[in-house]
Amino acid sequence: MKEKAHIVVIGTGGTIAGRGASSVNTSAYACSVLSIDEVLSGIPEVAAVSRVSAEQLMQIGSENFTTEHLLQLGKRIDTLLRRDDVDGIVVTHGTDTIDETAYFLHLTLKSPKPVVVVGSMRPPSSLSADGPLNLYNAILVASSPASHAKGTLVVSNDEIHSARDVVKTSTFKLESFRSPYGPLGYIVEGNPRYYRVPARRHTTETQWSVDEIYQLPEVGIVYAHAGIDAAVIEATAQSGIRGLIYAATGNGNVAGHVVGALLRARRRGVQIVRASRTGSGIVTRNGAQPDDEYDWLVVDDQVPQKARLLLMLSLSDGQHSTELQDVFYRY
Ligand code: GLU
Repeated sequence: MKEKAHIVVIGTGGTIAGRGASSVNTSAYACSVLSIDEVLSGIPEVAAVSRVSAEQLMQIGSENFTTEHLLQLGKRIDTLLRRDDVDGIVVTHGTDTIDETAYFLHLTLKSPKPVVVVGSMRPPSSLSADGPLNLYNAILVASSPASHAKGTLVVSNDEIHSARDVVKTSTFKLESFRSPYGPLGYIVEGNPRYYRVPARRHTTETQWSVDEIYQLPEVGIVYAHAGIDAAVIEATAQSGIRGLIYAATGNGNVAGHVVGALLRARRRGVQIVRASRTGSGIVTRNGAQPDDEYDWLVVDDQVPQKARLLLMLSLSDGQHSTELQDVFYRY
């Protein structure tokens, strides 16, 4: 008989570890209160398919995640993946920044073994809770040889998403997690089915390894709107950041009255990256603004919060602007 895959489930908190006062509390509840062992006790069915061990690494809402938390989690996963007796990792996580943590792992882990990040939109105490099935599915995805070398995955609502693409799109709906190009696959009756693979570089093909990173330069995000005050850009640019993601309107459009503030920031050494607040699509280099002339960058198609992580990692390598632009087209 084939041996069951050994999956380590790392608990970090979130709604999947939450509890409401009653079963009808689907939106108002306490987050990050159940231990990972209590969360796992809700899915005894998993013992028939995988050998699971659990550890509680932290117990926080994911809105509280910092760079230090990302490094702590990444380094722990890296250590576990080096062990011959570990076949895959599942991380239970709050959904608010699950896309950021998953993307960080996708860019910095160095193993083809599956790593799946999972959360839930409703606490386990609520009617029609989604956590137990999400977690069951995540463990099965992590146990499957089909999940090898696909980068970090996010499992939610019967779908398997690439960490590169997935974003949280709703504050409360079960189908909150979307990828602009669709999920990589589905989980049907516990069986992961893949229909496509990530085209951009990840995990073993990237230039970053979490075991070699001890700190990261800070990068800020400014969200554009009609009538934006240039003082917001000035203040952000002078807060000690090395890069600024400008979540511009539309295809990276920058209001004429704030161009000067961004140019001044660039002259002071802050990398300027034009992104879009629309949530999907490409920002065209030298389109709305002369990026070559200003020495600015564009995100390609990446959302601001993930472009920030990519720039933080790239700046830690001390790269030149032309190499930095290449990074956005490669990852
Ligand atoms: N505070 C929660 C978080 O950890 C809320 C969202 C959730 O887990 O669904 O992100």
